[in-house]
Amino acid sequence: MQEQAQGAAAVRGWCPTAWRPMMAGDGLLVRVRPLLGRLSRAQAEGLCDAALRHGNGHIDVTNRAALQIRGVRADEHDALMERLVALGLARRNGDMAAPLIVNPDWTPGDATDSITSELIARAGELPDMPGKIGFAVDAGPAPVLTDAPADFRIERGMNGGLILRGDGRERGVPMNVSEAVSEIIALAQWFIASGGAIAGRMARHDTPPPVTPSEAPAPPRSRADCLAAVPGRYHAAPFGRIEAEALLAAMDDETRAIRLTPWRGLIVEGSSARSDDPADPRIGVDACPGAPACPQASVVTRDLAARLAPHVGGLHISGCAKGCARPKQAAVVLTGRDGRFDLARNARAGGQPERTDLSPTQILALFGAE
Ligand code: SF4
Repeated sequence: MQEQAQGAAAVRGWCPTAWRPMMAGDGLLVRVRPLLGRLSRAQAEGLCDAALRHGNGHIDVTNRAALQIRGVRADEHDALMERLVALGLARRNGDMAAPLIVNPDWTPGDATDSITSELIARAGELPDMPGKIGFAVDAGPAPVLTDAPADFRIERGMNGGLILRGDGRERGVPMNVSEAVSEIIALAQWFIASGGAIAGRMARHDTPPPVTPSEAPAPPRSRADCLAAVPGRYHAAPFGRIEAEALLAAMDDETRAIRLTPWRGLIVEGSSARSDDPADPRIGVDACPGAPACPQASVVTRDLAARLAPHVGGLHISGCAKGCARPKQAAVVLTGRDGRFDLARNARAGGQPERTDLSPTQILALFGAE
């Protein structure tokens, strides 16, 4: 499934891509998915320069390890795409439409690299699928992307080989590296043929798959183990945001490349500078851009999130009931409504509130964060 290059089309409700940007409150949002989640140093520097030249310099790191250049003016989009194509960060004939994430500690020629490269080359064999359907190639020594959003997962099984597992299923189908991409394509075709588009996501599609899954995934490994396997410096991106100048400054003389993670941070490959703390409480908080970046928002989200982060575990602050930053439940949810917040617990954004009409000052007092 390849998307078509469509110039500066801007249609709200689509999953944004580079060729199909979405209009946000601060301008067009252009999503870039570097191959295997890795940018060479030249690509990273070029992308930062492009974000400053054609956008507002804000870059998002998404929970599917993509980058979003923000604040792009409509009349700058064509020039930005020329730059991204020249950098090898977009393809002139369209990029693979479906999101694809990989275990960040892949190495050249390993199973993750082989399967991902083949899947991208054969993307045209995938059927048209709902916009949020995505893939995870998580073929390291044990799964590490279990909590990252994906519908079709290649991961290590209990017996040490690879399995293909549909999201939401407890077991997957064993296979080897050379079979994996054909099996992924076959499962995606079955998903559509069996009505999966109506369910929208694999985890909601109850129809039994064509091959009975037989093997459970291996116990997951920690993010820290995965991050430690890549020589370099971990650079945190609280709330999934990094400024282009900050990313440029993070690259020192030893930097070879940037690797993206789905965990609100990236790895500055080769750098021996001290890593940020992966346990920074701000990294664990979900907060969408809120006002003024998003026109749906009536509240500022991230300033409040930064102040609450050390005081509230499992926090989600959402500019509106759509809940873009976290589709799942969170222990504490603050949802913006008419310039104030509703507070719910163990709920999604917009869930049944226990308190309504709260100001930021009242919320800070409530959680002892004054
Ligand atoms: S949750 Fe609402 S306010 Fe936040 S980014 Fe999504 S649409 Fe915008």
